[in-house]
Amino acid sequence: MTTPQYISTRDSSPAVGFAEALLNGLAPDGGLYLPDRIPPLPSDWRDAASLPDLAFEVLHPWLADDFAPDRLRPLLADALDFPIPLVPLGDDLYVLELFHGPTLSFKDVGARTMARLTAEALHGERLTILVATSGDTGSAVADGFAGQPGVRVVLLYPKGQVSPVQERQLIVERPGVQTLAVEGTFDDCQRLVKAAFGEPVPEGERRSSANSINVGRLLPQMLYYTWALAQSDLDEAVVCVPSGNLGNLTAGVMAARAGLPIRRFIAAHNANDFFPRYLDYGADDFPASVRTLSNAMDVGAPSNFERLQALLPGETLRDRLWGTSVTDDETLASMRAVYEATGYLADPHTAVGLEGVRRYRQATGDTTPAIVLSTAHPTKFPEAVERALGFAPETPPALAALTNRPTFVAPIAPTLEALRPYLRK
Ligand SMILES: *Cc1c(COP(=O)(O)O)cnc(C)c1O
Repeated sequence: MTTPQYISTRDSSPAVGFAEALLNGLAPDGGLYLPDRIPPLPSDWRDAASLPDLAFEVLHPWLADDFAPDRLRPLLADALDFPIPLVPLGDDLYVLELFHGPTLSFKDVGARTMARLTAEALHGERLTILVATSGDTGSAVADGFAGQPGVRVVLLYPKGQVSPVQERQLIVERPGVQTLAVEGTFDDCQRLVKAAFGEPVPEGERRSSANSINVGRLLPQMLYYTWALAQSDLDEAVVCVPSGNLGNLTAGVMAARAGLPIRRFIAAHNANDFFPRYLDYGADDFPASVRTLSNAMDVGAPSNFERLQALLPGETLRDRLWGTSVTDDETLASMRAVYEATGYLADPHTAVGLEGVRRYRQATGDTTPAIVLSTAHPTKFPEAVERALGFAPETPPALAALTNRPTFVAPIAPTLEALRPYLRK
């Protein structure tokens, strides 16, 4: 089978190879890149000896035109050098712990892989990555791209509006990374990044973004769905995805379309409930985002919605996906319930997912074994754990070590004039 070309969800951009889609981020017509065909999973996917081995077998057919096997294998082994265990909680319920990477959220999987693919695809050009972040994305991207040859990262976050743990992760000094504490809101940061893309780019240089619309982050996220089933003896599963921008869910849908036996997906959202309402009754309004305890899912208008609709046209979307929205109080109750029943400490995002499974089973009577993607380490959210359980979580060594590392951050006013000097450096 030939390698896919990548086409835009809006149909009016030329089809490009994987490397071009990776470096472009967004298609020129403003749409999101999609493969024009879905390479089937290799028949022996259940027999993989390790995550990097499986990663190679699954991913290579998607980008074979641009990455020879002897370049792709070591790159994946380097990116995916942490465990992703499937933990049974009883009652045909499992959590897939995606938070054992360096910044303790699932975004390490996509960001680390994308960073290495990008450095390889640049062929001597230089690239500046701009990211606005309100939490997990920024640290995963900064950590993933730090020290990659030819790449600089400029990271903008709203000063004083991220949690102390998240801020620490954002401001530690990393080679090739400039962190800017913007005197404004997350929306200001996003506006500045957008404005920066309108600025002239010097010859021989590229400018790109690393948010979850990039196929380079999306494709690697198929791996852990496959890995979860490969390390279990389950014939099929229902998978619950704590969701915000719907990137994670979109990757799961691509894995299912490639042949992974996932019966149904549960899209578990917090109070930012556009997508569950869309699944319920076709809602088409995008309300402004509201702040919740599961802040990495505080998204009003999910950017991957367009891609998900293209992958599952018409009624197939509702056949394959079931959605629900969980309030902060229900999230805290879910953290308490799983802790009391099993001793398992779930972070607020994972707790939204656990509640999603409970409701799905109650509403549908479907008793298929369920896997909840555990997207962040509970220690990233000590305030929520304290509120739910009355004690603070232990700090893992990876996080404790950050306290002693030097920091490197510049405060800036929320204006393009203030940002401009950092684009050129
Ligand atoms: C980003 C994030 C999510 C949401 O993932 P999407 O791909 O945006 O749907 C969920 N949980 C955590 C911890 C995250 O960092």
